[in-house]
Amino acid sequence: MLDNLRTELAARVTEMQETGVYKPERILASPQGTRVRDETGREILNLCANNYLGLADDPRVVGAASKTLQERGFGMASVRFICGTQDIHRELEERLAAWLRQEDTILFPSCFDANGGVFEALLDQRDAVISDALNHASIIDGVRLCKAQRFRYANRDMAELEARLQEAADARYRLIVTDGVFSMDGYFAPLDEICVLADRYDALVMVDDSHAVGFVGEGGRGTAARYGVEDRIDILTGTLGKALGGASGGYVAARREIVAVLKQRARPYLFSNSVAPAVAGASLAVLDILEDSGELRHQLERNASRFRSGMTDAGFDLLPGEHAIVPVMFGDAVEASAVAQRLWDAGVYAVAFSFPVVPHGQARIRVQLSAAHTDEDVDRAVAAFVATR
Ligand SMILES: *Cc1c(COP(=O)(O)O)cnc(C)c1O
Repeated sequence: MLDNLRTELAARVTEMQETGVYKPERILASPQGTRVRDETGREILNLCANNYLGLADDPRVVGAASKTLQERGFGMASVRFICGTQDIHRELEERLAAWLRQEDTILFPSCFDANGGVFEALLDQRDAVISDALNHASIIDGVRLCKAQRFRYANRDMAELEARLQEAADARYRLIVTDGVFSMDGYFAPLDEICVLADRYDALVMVDDSHAVGFVGEGGRGTAARYGVEDRIDILTGTLGKALGGASGGYVAARREIVAVLKQRARPYLFSNSVAPAVAGASLAVLDILEDSGELRHQLERNASRFRSGMTDAGFDLLPGEHAIVPVMFGDAVEASAVAQRLWDAGVYAVAFSFPVVPHGQARIRVQLSAAHTDEDVDRAVAAFVATR
């Protein structure tokens, strides 16, 4: 039987390679940053990390991680409720809650786990989840794990959302769930309109702000802050693995009673290890940096707008917007991946995405700016795109 399985799996991988959907991993031999090195020592300008604030190798963050490692050890070897909760875990939960204007926070091993645990712990067959069609895979999986009725609306389509809310009128609780920022387009969910509909149809609102927390909106507090609706958001999930240092870890920040039940019932929290102490300690340092100054966030905005205008002037087709995710549109999948390869050969790293990750005929190269990029980096990135023509 094993031989059959191995043959079949090898054929599947070959088919993925032949149809262009296979994802090779490029090996880096340096810390994450705006300049990385490959195994040959070649320096590459990195335009594809979620390292929006450049904190992944920031000396203040690395220093805090290293100090915590020395003082609190490497790992907890326990889930939170047995003997895996240090004072810094609670401190980080309280700091995140206060910063995000929520009542309490629960840490998870990842945001994937936060989304995987939240629905099943709170909802059952009497309830309804109304989900944006482009929501992250972890939301889709989390919703599948719970018994609530499922409704889906087209990406950011408020008329469809309203129709789904009407269909779900009989549910005990209605929960609207959306990404704050959609990662393939860099578009914001219209949280102001979503909250108006939530009020009209008496629904709860959950936002996964993984691609926004730390740098979008006032104080970098995220998409809800951008739209001035922080008070109306009932459940906020996010990751520590992108702008907030980029290591790992996720959270749910929410009303007090929601967090209390999640701590008792969310399975990825109950049955998976505590966030490593060094990550908790470094994340506290990240919050200090963000609360101290908006400089990184403003630098990121300047970098994104410099790249967007440079590329537009050079005649490239971009999806419009303000986010640090800048999709450079090619349409044709073969062309997009050929351009990405030419960029790599020129020492610039950006990734091409095509169907099924984005719709047919909308292949693109997704560029992600970082606050750590210099003006020279941004200009070099534009020049590298021009040189691929
Ligand atoms: C990256 C991402 C996640 C997963 O976060 P991890 O902490 O890496 O598991 C979840 N949701 C969204 C919207 C994301 O962009």
